[in-house]
Amino acid sequence: MIVSKFGGSSVADADQIKKVKAILDSDKNRRIAIVSAPGKRNKDDEKITDLLYKCNSLVQKGLTCRPVFNEISKRFVQIAQKLKIDDVKLSERLDDIRCMIDAGRGADYTASRGEYLSALVISEYLGWEFLDAEDVIVINSDSTVNEVTYKKLREKLDPEKRYVIPGFYGETEQGVVKTFTRGGSDITGSIVAKAVNAELYENWTDVSGIYRADPRIIENASVNPELSYKEVRELSDVGATVFHEEAIAPIYDSGIPIVVKNTNKPDEPGTRIVPESNDFGATAVSARSGLSRIRLRKLMLFKKYGVRHALLTMLHVFGIRPCYSLFGIDSIVWFFDSKMANESVCQAMCERLKKEFELDSIEVDHGHAILGVVGDGMDSSDAYFKAAEALNENGIGITFLNYGASATSVLFGVKEEQANDAVRAVYKKLF
Ligand code: ASP
Repeated sequence: MIVSKFGGSSVADADQIKKVKAILDSDKNRRIAIVSAPGKRNKDDEKITDLLYKCNSLVQKGLTCRPVFNEISKRFVQIAQKLKIDDVKLSERLDDIRCMIDAGRGADYTASRGEYLSALVISEYLGWEFLDAEDVIVINSDSTVNEVTYKKLREKLDPEKRYVIPGFYGETEQGVVKTFTRGGSDITGSIVAKAVNAELYENWTDVSGIYRADPRIIENASVNPELSYKEVRELSDVGATVFHEEAIAPIYDSGIPIVVKNTNKPDEPGTRIVPESNDFGATAVSARSGLSRIRLRKLMLFKKYGVRHALLTMLHVFGIRPCYSLFGIDSIVWFFDSKMANESVCQAMCERLKKEFELDSIEVDHGHAILGVVGDGMDSSDAYFKAAEALNENGIGITFLNYGASATSVLFGVKEEQANDAVRAVYKKLF
């Protein structure tokens, strides 16, 4: 059995959904489809999920979500009409959902309705069963999947039938709707693929696979024919957005192959993601921007037992979860996503840490990026050296270096404004 997940661009409008049907119809082994909420139809368009989050913000401010929700309704009704499916029932459902959002059901419930409606419409169009993710996917408080999910899925899924399941959400053990992080339908696809022990997990999107570098930066970047699970996880950590960074985890032990393919060019081979790849050395380069850096210093900092843990706990209190770290004899450097804390939170955090831990200095600055050169066997390849050389030759300073922590990547800190130049320089040198 093949599990096929279709992202937002693949279900953005009726014409795209017709392509989805053609893909599903072309192989009888495709029996379960996981769908996202309709995404952008063009570059100036808005994703349904973004509009739903807007609805929730309006309600949080004590305003009605009606004007924004009308946009959402219009899109779904238009899709239903073009696909010639019953739009009366849909209108009733839309009204119910708007009332729930206005009544303050919260961000997760609100955001999840894009996938819910998308799956309802598509299941009706295909004539497949609709299986609500809320009834089968149980999400723990730390956003990992609860093991009971697999049992529930196996109980509910009849191998003789075909199903459409909404991606991105499930419910907590207490029965409250909960979403994964953005792009989380990829995770739903992995969970379902594992539950049914799929022969293949297909991830259909609007690009022809996972490129060696972002094609918006490198015009003629080539597509990787094959990557390993580890390579894809490392790549998504450094900004490659094609496959959600947490989506490998559910199928990591099962060995199920994944293929990333283009809904608009279904005959292209795409990228196959396999447990272990036969290729060693650099396979891709990517940069993750939008990072801030904390630098702190104190003589004999590590003399006190557990200081690292205590400092991190304090950062968490301010909503900061560092993603990259470096330790010196008397100093620590942490990078974190700038969206986690605004200027006043950063200032309050610095003051508190300085006082509590009697630091000699602490400062936060912004505008950083981490460039990752990814490939299995990086720890025994000369790619890190060549990448550093390329950065140096192009006048790009290195603010951070992480080599050896993973056998699959080497990471360089660069200034955000130089991130694209850094990708170009390294791509040219390595590929
Ligand atoms: N619709 C959600 C998002 O836009 C989840 C997904 O598409 O995977 O993030």
